[in-house]
Amino acid sequence: MRTCQRCGNDIPAERLEALPDTTICVKCSQEIGGEFVYGAVPSNIGKAGSLKKNYGEWKIIKRRRRIEPKAR
Ligand SMILES: [Zn+2]
Repeated sequence: MRTCQRCGNDIPAERLEALPDTTICVKCSQEIGGEFVYGAVPSNIGKAGSLKKNYGEWKIIKRRRRIEPKAR
């Protein structure tokens, strides 16, 4: 059993099963607009030192949102 980093409530086992690396409960996730932030970064596949950069590929990165404890 894990508790929510934001509100301190227990995170339901079903949620932990679906999202093993979650640290917040469903409600908080909805309130802050999702636990993770997705972004696209260009992955430079050009040669090192080359002035011509090839941004042909984008890498999707997943970052964990900074979670502030909920104000009581
Ligand atoms: Zn919560």
